[in-house]
Amino acid sequence: MNHSSFPDNYPIVGRRKFIAKSLLTAGALLTIPVLTIATGPNKINETYTVGEIMDLFIKEVPGGVLTNTVDTLKAGNRDMQVTGIVTTMFATIEVIRKAIDLGANFIIAHEPTFYNHTDDTTWLQNDDVYQYKTNLLKQHNIAVWRNHDYIHSLVPDGVTIGVLEQLQWKKYADHDVPNIITLQAIPLKDLIGHLKEKLSIEKVKYIGNLSQSCNRLLLMPGAAGGRRQIESIGKVKPDVLICGEIQEWETAEYIRDAKAKGDNLSLVILGHIASEEPGSEFMLNWLKEKVPSITSTHIPSGNSLSFL
Ligand SMILES: [Zn+2]
Repeated sequence: MNHSSFPDNYPIVGRRKFIAKSLLTAGALLTIPVLTIATGPNKINETYTVGEIMDLFIKEVPGGVLTNTVDTLKAGNRDMQVTGIVTTMFATIEVIRKAIDLGANFIIAHEPTFYNHTDDTTWLQNDDVYQYKTNLLKQHNIAVWRNHDYIHSLVPDGVTIGVLEQLQWKKYADHDVPNIITLQAIPLKDLIGHLKEKLSIEKVKYIGNLSQSCNRLLLMPGAAGGRRQIESIGKVKPDVLICGEIQEWETAEYIRDAKAKGDNLSLVILGHIASEEPGSEFMLNWLKEKVPSITSTHIPSGNSLSFL
């Protein structure tokens, strides 16, 4: 959703520092004395609580615990023993049902569970969709944690890295600001084809001339907001902005005017979920590496919208 790390905090720290920090925390993990089954050194935990897994991730984020964050537990509690983990963009009712089938009681979702950014539920108490969902979670004793601010606060941003990996663009990304990608010039039509194929997208919305040459790309997964998208275009001067979603009355109108002024600027809108789903894949890989004794599964939540 909102990308607090872009572009306000840039330039960000380079990858080398990230790797050093990851190694450091991975080492620290081995010495945490929580429910270890083995007594010898260098043994990794076999079992984890929800809170322990949250803390392991948060430890890797520069600055550690955030005081003002939407990354709270939406269901369940920290002390629950984890039987399996599902990573996804949205803890939809379908995803919850699949988690139950898998015997997994911990869902790590990137976006809200209850239809607003802070998951405020006071206004939903009498809503029957809300009631159905909370009852389902309660009956099956499922914990849901939103990992949004933390994964975006990794250096580099975990969602951006997930998307770059899926697009096979990691080697073309700027070292300090990986959202800036320099490709060998490619027509917009081919660029859109690559995005659709690699991210399994049926259709995209776009602005631009399909034969326009694209060389410098600005990748902003999710919904960064019109002002942030427009300011970033002004700073980066890309040939094309690739984003998750826009407000049609903001970014699209800016790009239309920029084109009329003579700028070589296109827009590709991937859809919010498609643009960030690789972040849940990143999360899955992180879990497999850090808590290999727990079975973790990525369940794509898929696009809520169809196209005719
Ligand atoms: Zn996001």
